[in-house]
Amino acid sequence: MTDNALTIALSKGRIFDETLPLLAAAGIVPLEEPGSSRKLIIGTNLPNVRLVIVRASDVPTYVQYGAADFGIAGKDVLIEHGGDGLYQPLDLKIAKCRMMVAVRKGFDYAAASQPGNRLRVATKYPDIAAEHFAGKGVHVDIIKLYGSMELAPLVGLSDAIVDLVSTGGTLKANNLEAVEHIVDISSRLVVNKAALKVKHALIQPIINAFAEAAGQS
Ligand code: ATP
Ligand code: MG
Repeated sequence: MTDNALTIALSKGRIFDETLPLLAAAGIVPLEEPGSSRKLIIGTNLPNVRLVIVRASDVPTYVQYGAADFGIAGKDVLIEHGGDGLYQPLDLKIAKCRMMVAVRKGFDYAAASQPGNRLRVATKYPDIAAEHFAGKGVHVDIIKLYGSMELAPLVGLSDAIVDLVSTGGTLKANNLEAVEHIVDISSRLVVNKAALKVKHALIQPIINAFAEAAGQS
């Protein structure tokens, strides 16, 4: 990409939807909606700005390698990714939820999670889960899943899950309950460090507009 073109990595769904007002505040309007379009590269009203639509967990990777100049990713994804090569100037306060430990209703978590005990934990977030339980002195067998974590305790795959919770509706519908809060999650702006230098005049006004729209300037 040339020095006056910008590529922005976003995931479809809630991050795209909640990012639209921020993009609008920066004068950027996508020409298509990724929910209905199958295109992975979407143009905008600005001829030099395009969006690439990627999996939420792939946003940091596209930005790290400079395939996108910046992007928006959940803190959950950023903790697991590690943040290498990424400048994280802003908490955008969108896609807010909490990383929680949850178990089947009636499971005696207080007893099961005593220091020295061993617990089977299913999660999409092995690093976050391992660090949390190490901090409590609880030994864990981490079982990596890619989705539908709620099922694991119901069929005996694990004792507990580590997952994102917002309303708690999915836990409730599956007879689970949240028993421990690990960390508050929201989405962050992530910028490629080299792009920030080379394309500073293009990127900084967008960061400023996002900051103002997110109520942080
Ligand atoms: P995929 O659905 O493609 O497997 P994903 O589940 O990571 O990926 P989303 O569900 O769109 O994709 O989640 C994107 C980000 O939104 C997450 O990384 C997290 O930061 C945040 N998020 C996830 N679940 C919730 C929720 N229930 N409420 C608010 N924010 C959430
Ligand atoms: Mg999801």
